[in-house]
Amino acid sequence: MSDDKIEKTPLVKEIPPKARDLSEWYQAVCYKAELVSLAPVRGCVVLRPYGFGLWERLQSELDRRFKETGHENAYFPLLIPESLLVREAEHVEGFAPEVAWVTEGGNEKLTERLAIRPTSEVVIGVMYAEWLQSYRDLPILINQWVNVMRWEKRTRPFLRTLEFLWQEGHTAHATEREAAEEVQRMLDIYRSVAQDIVGVPVYAGEKSESERFPGANHTFSIEALMPDGRALQAATSHELGQNFAKAYDIKFAAEDQTVQYAWTTSWGMSWRMLGALIMVHGDDRGLRIPPKMAPVEAVIVPIVRAGSDEVVAAARALLATLKGAGLRVKLDERDLRPGNKFSDWEMRGVPLRVELGAKDIEAGVATLVRRDKEKGEEGGKLVVPLAEVAARIAALLEDIQANLYREARAFLESHTLRPSDRSEFFERCRERAGMIDIPWCGLESCEAIVKAETSATTRVTRPLEGGESTCVACGEPAAMRAFFAQSY
Ligand SMILES: [Zn+2]
Repeated sequence: MSDDKIEKTPLVKEIPPKARDLSEWYQAVCYKAELVSLAPVRGCVVLRPYGFGLWERLQSELDRRFKETGHENAYFPLLIPESLLVREAEHVEGFAPEVAWVTEGGNEKLTERLAIRPTSEVVIGVMYAEWLQSYRDLPILINQWVNVMRWEKRTRPFLRTLEFLWQEGHTAHATEREAAEEVQRMLDIYRSVAQDIVGVPVYAGEKSESERFPGANHTFSIEALMPDGRALQAATSHELGQNFAKAYDIKFAAEDQTVQYAWTTSWGMSWRMLGALIMVHGDDRGLRIPPKMAPVEAVIVPIVRAGSDEVVAAARALLATLKGAGLRVKLDERDLRPGNKFSDWEMRGVPLRVELGAKDIEAGVATLVRRDKEKGEEGGKLVVPLAEVAARIAALLEDIQANLYREARAFLESHTLRPSDRSEFFERCRERAGMIDIPWCGLESCEAIVKAETSATTRVTRPLEGGESTCVACGEPAAMRAFFAQSY
């Protein structure tokens, strides 16, 4: 695609079946559920209010955990002078192919190019060098919620766009051990938010050398499995050693009066996590949002016939009750047929629908419909006394959250394979069978051969469990276990 060709958001009348073509289904759902629109600039999307609502849910869950673990938010500039960027050689080499540059300001050509941040280790490192004097100033625990830009060729909503939203945490510590503990603490937070909030099961572990963040000593990540058998890296946490401290002069006077370089870390999760949510939980009727992530947990649809003011009044009263109970709830009073409203909220994945008609009011009940169940499935539809609706909704939301996670976990487990010989391993990698878990040698040459022949790469590694002796991919002695998969 040339840089000047702008794609318009396609008008989606109906979404295709998810099983037929995941990618086509995915994009159709993103537009039809009004999460995003394509922007009038190549490779960028507009996050629409409902999509931003999802992002805000993720943001608030992460932000609360960051603060509970002692981090504070701050803001650093978007632009990075080239002369600063080039100081950490590996870092600049890793990011150079995807950096966008500002070369002019007003009518003047700049004497030095300014990079639009692809990530902020550099500018933050420079500031930490200025702020840090003594061991008493440590640790520095800062996070920022920002946009970054990476000049990608192919783009897809949430998964890969030129500009995207994320958080990046940057910390500095007195010792290597403290930095290593920080990196694991944040990896644990990512794992718990992915699983307990977004309902997406993940494997957490260390990246192989070739998959490491440019400039890091160790990179850890969480990896989710998508329905097409491809892995999706959902967050990363890096031990940067003293590499950035040396490049950017982040030094402090230690307790014993010696001058030492700090040990730094960085960690990030982006709106990519929303891409995982959409793909893992969605179905042929659209999104299915786990309640803890849902901008709207329940929607009230009045079943109104001409002149039934009574129904609307009852629906408004119910709305007030549910809001009072602390639920994120909406009343759909649009001038549309109830059936159209049903499919609209199903497309948006709202976990529960509350139907309220004249007969229900007479009988003192409401009908609750679960989005996580198939139409007609047992337990999908419940008639509940009006006085109990708030309490029943709270319990049902918990059950829906657990049910969506259980389904996703079962998929991950049934698609985690442990081939015992080389040909089976290569075959499974090639056919995108899922997370292929093998004892691995850890050699870059072995990984390169697997990648060249199957397009699969290591996702994360972990220590051997004992008993394994040889690498299934090449027959050399095994040094660790690794999950291989093709990836997004
Ligand atoms: Zn090997």
